[in-house]
Amino acid sequence: MATPSSLLIFTDLDGTLLNSDDYRYDAALPILHQLHQRGVPVIPVTSKTRQEVIALRHEIAPQDPFVVENGSAIFWVPGDRRFDLTPMDPGGDLHSYCLGCTYSEARQGLADLSQALQVSLRGFGDLTPAALQGLTGLPAQEVGWAQAREFTEPFVMPSEVSAEQIRCLVHDLGLGIVVGDRFSHLIGAGAGKGRAVQRLVAAYQAAQPGQAVYTVGLGNSPNDLPMLEAVDWPIVIPGAAGPHPALGDRGWHIAPHPGSAGWAIAVETLYAQHR
Ligand SMILES: [Mg+2]
Repeated sequence: MATPSSLLIFTDLDGTLLNSDDYRYDAALPILHQLHQRGVPVIPVTSKTRQEVIALRHEIAPQDPFVVENGSAIFWVPGDRRFDLTPMDPGGDLHSYCLGCTYSEARQGLADLSQALQVSLRGFGDLTPAALQGLTGLPAQEVGWAQAREFTEPFVMPSEVSAEQIRCLVHDLGLGIVVGDRFSHLIGAGAGKGRAVQRLVAAYQAAQPGQAVYTVGLGNSPNDLPMLEAVDWPIVIPGAAGPHPALGDRGWHIAPHPGSAGWAIAVETLYAQHR
Protein backbone atom coordinates (compact mmCIF):
# COMPACT_ATOMS: atom_id res chain seq x y z
CA MET A 1 0.00 0.00 0.00
CA ALA A 2 1.13 3.55 -0.69
CA THR A 3 2.71 5.76 1.96
CA PRO A 4 0.63 8.54 3.54
CA SER A 5 2.53 11.18 1.59
CA SER A 6 1.11 9.83 -1.67
CA LEU A 7 -2.48 9.71 -0.45
CA LEU A 8 -4.81 12.20 -2.16
CA ILE A 9 -8.30 12.93 -0.87
CA PHE A 10 -10.79 14.49 -3.29
CA THR A 11 -14.06 15.66 -1.81
CA ASP A 12 -17.34 17.20 -2.84
CA LEU A 13 -18.50 19.92 -0.45
CA ASP A 14 -22.31 20.36 -0.26
CA GLY A 15 -23.93 17.38 1.44
CA THR A 16 -20.55 15.61 1.65
CA LEU A 17 -17.97 17.45 3.76
CA LEU A 18 -20.57 20.14 4.56
CA ASN A 19 -23.81 19.06 6.23
CA SER A 20 -26.75 19.51 3.87
CA ASP A 21 -28.90 21.29 6.47
CA ASP A 22 -26.55 23.76 8.21
CA TYR A 23 -23.49 23.71 5.89
CA ARG A 24 -21.28 23.08 8.95
CA TYR A 25 -18.29 20.72 9.06
CA ASP A 26 -17.26 20.86 12.73
CA ALA A 27 -17.25 17.07 13.06
CA ALA A 28 -14.54 16.82 10.42
CA LEU A 29 -12.21 19.48 11.84
CA PRO A 30 -10.05 17.12 13.99
CA ILE A 31 -9.28 14.75 11.10
CA LEU A 32 -8.84 17.68 8.69
CA HIS A 33 -6.28 19.15 11.08
CA GLN A 34 -4.49 15.81 11.35
CA LEU A 35 -4.38 15.38 7.56
CA HIS A 36 -3.04 18.91 7.18
CA GLN A 37 -0.32 18.22 9.77
CA ARG A 38 0.70 15.08 7.90
CA GLY A 39 0.70 16.83 4.52
CA VAL A 40 -2.14 14.77 3.04
CA PRO A 41 -3.93 16.95 0.48
CA VAL A 42 -7.69 17.39 0.89
CA ILE A 43 -8.84 18.69 -2.48
CA PRO A 44 -12.36 20.16 -2.77
CA VAL A 45 -14.05 19.22 -6.07
CA THR A 46 -17.25 21.19 -6.16
CA SER A 47 -19.83 23.04 -8.22
CA LYS A 48 -19.05 26.11 -6.08
CA THR A 49 -17.22 29.15 -7.48
CA ARG A 50 -13.66 30.20 -6.66
CA GLN A 51 -14.99 32.86 -4.26
CA GLU A 52 -17.22 30.38 -2.45
CA VAL A 53 -14.33 27.94 -1.95
CA ILE A 54 -11.91 30.68 -0.87
CA ALA A 55 -14.39 31.65 1.86
CA LEU A 56 -14.26 28.08 3.20
CA ARG A 57 -10.82 26.71 2.55
CA HIS A 58 -8.86 28.45 5.31
CA GLU A 59 -10.23 25.87 7.78
CA ILE A 60 -10.67 22.92 5.44
CA ALA A 61 -7.43 22.76 3.49
CA PRO A 62 -5.62 26.11 3.43
CA GLN A 63 -2.63 24.97 1.36
CA ASP A 64 -4.17 22.42 -0.97
CA PRO A 65 -5.39 22.87 -4.54
CA PHE A 66 -9.11 23.00 -5.25
CA VAL A 67 -11.42 22.37 -8.20
CA VAL A 68 -14.33 24.73 -8.89
CA GLU A 69 -17.49 24.94 -10.99
CA ASN A 70 -17.91 21.21 -11.67
CA GLY A 71 -14.37 20.52 -12.78
CA SER A 72 -13.92 23.67 -14.88
CA ALA A 73 -10.69 24.86 -13.27
CA ILE A 74 -8.02 23.89 -10.77
CA PHE A 75 -6.60 26.59 -8.46
CA TRP A 76 -3.51 26.33 -6.27
CA VAL A 77 -1.04 28.33 -4.23
CA PRO A 78 1.97 29.33 -6.36
CA GLY A 79 5.11 27.38 -5.51
CA ASP A 80 3.37 24.12 -4.55
CA ARG A 81 5.96 21.49 -5.57
CA ARG A 82 3.89 18.45 -4.65
CA PHE A 83 2.45 18.28 -8.17
CA ASP A 84 3.56 19.34 -11.62
CA LEU A 85 1.01 21.46 -13.44
CA THR A 86 1.78 24.46 -15.63
CA PRO A 87 -0.40 27.44 -14.70
CA MET A 88 -2.33 29.12 -17.48
CA ASP A 89 -2.19 32.53 -15.79
CA PRO A 90 1.04 32.82 -13.80
CA GLY A 91 0.81 35.62 -11.25
CA GLY A 92 -1.69 36.62 -8.59
CA ASP A 93 -2.48 34.94 -5.29
CA LEU A 94 -3.50 31.69 -6.95
CA HIS A 95 -2.42 29.87 -10.07
CA SER A 96 -5.01 28.20 -12.28
CA TYR A 97 -5.46 25.55 -14.92
CA CYS A 98 -8.70 25.72 -16.91
CA LEU A 99 -10.49 22.69 -18.37
CA GLY A 100 -13.75 24.42 -19.19
CA CYS A 101 -15.06 27.42 -21.12
CA THR A 102 -15.47 31.11 -20.21
CA TYR A 103 -18.53 32.36 -18.40
CA SER A 104 -19.60 34.35 -21.46
CA GLU A 105 -19.46 31.16 -23.55
CA ALA A 106 -21.65 29.40 -20.99
CA ARG A 107 -24.08 32.35 -21.01
CA GLN A 108 -24.23 32.28 -24.80
CA GLY A 109 -24.85 28.52 -24.58
CA LEU A 110 -27.84 29.14 -22.31
CA ALA A 111 -29.25 31.69 -24.77
CA ASP A 112 -28.79 29.21 -27.64
CA LEU A 113 -30.40 26.44 -25.59
CA SER A 114 -33.38 28.67 -24.76
CA GLN A 115 -33.84 29.41 -28.43
CA ALA A 116 -33.55 25.76 -29.49
CA LEU A 117 -36.12 24.72 -26.86
CA GLN A 118 -38.37 27.76 -27.37
CA VAL A 119 -38.39 28.03 -23.58
CA SER A 120 -37.07 30.98 -21.59
CA LEU A 121 -34.38 29.47 -19.35
CA ARG A 122 -33.25 31.47 -16.32
CA GLY A 123 -29.60 31.29 -15.33
CA PHE A 124 -27.85 32.71 -12.26
CA GLY A 125 -26.84 35.67 -14.45
CA ASP A 126 -30.52 36.48 -15.16
CA LEU A 127 -31.52 36.54 -11.50
CA THR A 128 -31.30 39.43 -9.07
CA PRO A 129 -29.47 38.62 -5.82
CA ALA A 130 -32.83 38.67 -4.00
CA ALA A 131 -34.38 36.23 -6.49
CA LEU A 132 -31.39 33.90 -6.23
CA GLN A 133 -31.54 34.08 -2.46
CA GLY A 134 -35.22 33.12 -2.63
CA LEU A 135 -34.44 30.12 -4.85
CA THR A 136 -31.40 28.83 -2.97
CA GLY A 137 -31.86 29.98 0.63
CA LEU A 138 -28.24 31.18 0.66
CA PRO A 139 -27.27 34.01 3.02
CA ALA A 140 -27.00 37.41 1.27
CA GLN A 141 -23.19 37.53 1.28
CA GLU A 142 -22.94 34.05 -0.19
CA VAL A 143 -25.34 34.92 -3.02
CA GLY A 144 -22.69 37.34 -4.28
CA TRP A 145 -20.05 34.62 -4.19
CA ALA A 146 -22.36 32.17 -5.98
CA GLN A 147 -22.96 34.74 -8.72
CA ALA A 148 -19.23 35.43 -9.14
CA ARG A 149 -19.05 32.83 -11.88
CA GLU A 150 -16.07 32.37 -14.19
CA PHE A 151 -16.76 29.19 -16.18
CA THR A 152 -20.27 27.73 -15.85
CA GLU A 153 -23.91 28.82 -15.77
CA PRO A 154 -26.40 27.11 -13.48
CA PHE A 155 -30.00 27.42 -14.65
CA VAL A 156 -33.43 26.49 -13.38
CA MET A 157 -34.54 23.19 -14.93
CA PRO A 158 -37.72 23.72 -16.99
CA SER A 159 -40.58 21.41 -16.07
CA GLU A 160 -41.82 21.01 -19.64
CA VAL A 161 -38.62 19.56 -21.17
CA SER A 162 -36.92 16.26 -20.39
CA ALA A 163 -33.34 16.15 -19.11
CA GLU A 164 -32.50 13.83 -21.99
CA GLN A 165 -33.69 16.35 -24.58
CA ILE A 166 -31.61 19.06 -22.91
CA ARG A 167 -28.56 16.79 -22.80
CA CYS A 168 -28.78 16.16 -26.58
CA LEU A 169 -29.15 19.85 -27.43
CA VAL A 170 -26.28 20.86 -25.14
CA HIS A 171 -24.06 18.26 -26.79
CA ASP A 172 -24.95 19.68 -30.23
CA LEU A 173 -23.97 23.15 -28.94
CA GLY A 174 -20.50 21.84 -28.13
CA LEU A 175 -20.94 22.21 -24.37
CA GLY A 176 -21.37 19.86 -21.43
CA ILE A 177 -24.08 19.68 -18.77
CA VAL A 178 -24.36 18.49 -15.20
CA VAL A 179 -28.04 17.75 -14.64
CA GLY A 180 -29.48 18.37 -11.18
CA ASP A 181 -32.96 18.27 -9.71
CA ARG A 182 -33.61 21.99 -9.43
CA PHE A 183 -30.60 23.45 -11.18
CA SER A 184 -28.47 22.12 -13.99
CA HIS A 185 -25.07 23.54 -14.90
CA LEU A 186 -23.84 24.35 -18.39
CA ILE A 187 -20.11 23.59 -18.48
CA GLY A 188 -17.34 23.53 -21.08
CA ALA A 189 -16.99 20.36 -23.14
CA GLY A 190 -13.59 19.59 -21.59
CA ALA A 191 -14.68 20.20 -18.02
CA GLY A 192 -15.93 17.68 -15.45
CA LYS A 193 -15.22 16.53 -11.92
CA GLY A 194 -13.70 13.26 -13.18
CA ARG A 195 -11.47 14.98 -15.74
CA ALA A 196 -10.19 17.49 -13.19
CA VAL A 197 -9.37 14.67 -10.76
CA GLN A 198 -7.54 12.72 -13.48
CA ARG A 199 -5.56 15.84 -14.42
CA LEU A 200 -4.50 16.45 -10.83
CA VAL A 201 -3.62 12.81 -10.15
CA ALA A 202 -1.39 12.85 -13.24
CA ALA A 203 0.19 16.09 -11.99
CA TYR A 204 0.94 14.57 -8.55
CA GLN A 205 2.25 11.42 -10.20
CA ALA A 206 4.52 13.46 -12.46
CA ALA A 207 6.07 15.16 -9.43
CA GLN A 208 6.84 11.84 -7.69
CA PRO A 209 7.80 9.36 -10.41
CA GLY A 210 8.02 5.77 -9.27
CA GLN A 211 5.87 6.35 -6.19
CA ALA A 212 2.32 5.01 -6.06
CA VAL A 213 -0.40 7.63 -5.67
CA TYR A 214 -3.49 6.32 -3.87
CA THR A 215 -6.67 8.31 -4.39
CA VAL A 216 -9.84 8.61 -2.32
CA GLY A 217 -13.02 10.40 -3.40
CA LEU A 218 -16.06 11.38 -1.33
CA GLY A 219 -19.40 12.44 -2.78
CA ASN A 220 -23.13 12.33 -2.12
CA SER A 221 -24.94 12.77 -5.44
CA PRO A 222 -24.95 11.76 -9.13
CA ASN A 223 -22.90 14.84 -10.08
CA ASP A 224 -20.07 13.21 -8.13
CA LEU A 225 -20.14 9.98 -10.18
CA PRO A 226 -17.32 10.96 -12.59
CA MET A 227 -15.11 11.89 -9.62
CA LEU A 228 -15.92 8.69 -7.71
CA GLU A 229 -15.25 6.58 -10.81
CA ALA A 230 -11.86 8.29 -11.22
CA VAL A 231 -10.45 7.34 -7.77
CA ASP A 232 -9.10 4.13 -6.23
CA TRP A 233 -11.39 4.26 -3.17
CA PRO A 234 -14.82 5.90 -3.65
CA ILE A 235 -16.78 6.74 -0.50
CA VAL A 236 -20.47 7.61 -0.65
CA ILE A 237 -21.85 10.02 1.95
CA PRO A 238 -25.51 9.15 2.56
CA GLY A 239 -28.36 11.60 3.07
CA ALA A 240 -30.86 11.40 5.93
CA ALA A 241 -32.76 8.70 3.99
CA GLY A 242 -29.65 6.73 3.03
CA PRO A 243 -27.32 6.84 0.04
CA HIS A 244 -28.54 8.27 -3.26
CA PRO A 245 -29.92 5.36 -5.35
CA ALA A 246 -27.51 6.16 -8.19
CA LEU A 247 -24.53 5.70 -5.84
CA GLY A 248 -25.72 3.20 -3.27
CA ASP A 249 -25.63 -0.03 -5.29
CA ARG A 250 -22.13 0.08 -6.77
CA GLY A 251 -20.34 -1.82 -4.05
CA TRP A 252 -18.63 1.36 -2.87
CA HIS A 253 -17.96 2.11 0.77
CA ILE A 254 -20.87 4.00 2.36
CA ALA A 255 -20.14 6.31 5.30
CA PRO A 256 -22.03 5.50 8.52
CA HIS A 257 -23.64 8.96 8.84
CA PRO A 258 -24.65 11.87 6.57
CA GLY A 259 -22.55 15.01 6.18
CA SER A 260 -19.40 15.90 8.06
CA ALA A 261 -19.90 13.26 10.80
CA GLY A 262 -19.94 10.48 8.22
CA TRP A 263 -17.09 12.11 6.29
CA ALA A 264 -14.94 12.22 9.42
CA ILE A 265 -15.50 8.57 10.40
CA ALA A 266 -14.96 7.28 6.85
CA VAL A 267 -11.73 9.25 6.42
CA GLU A 268 -10.43 8.46 9.94
CA THR A 269 -10.98 4.74 9.31
CA LEU A 270 -9.28 4.84 5.94
CA TYR A 271 -6.38 6.93 7.22
CA ALA A 272 -5.79 4.61 10.18
CA GLN A 273 -5.52 1.67 7.74
CA HIS A 274 -3.20 3.63 5.52
CA ARG A 275 -0.57 4.74 8.02
MG1 LIG B 1 -22.93 17.34 -3.05
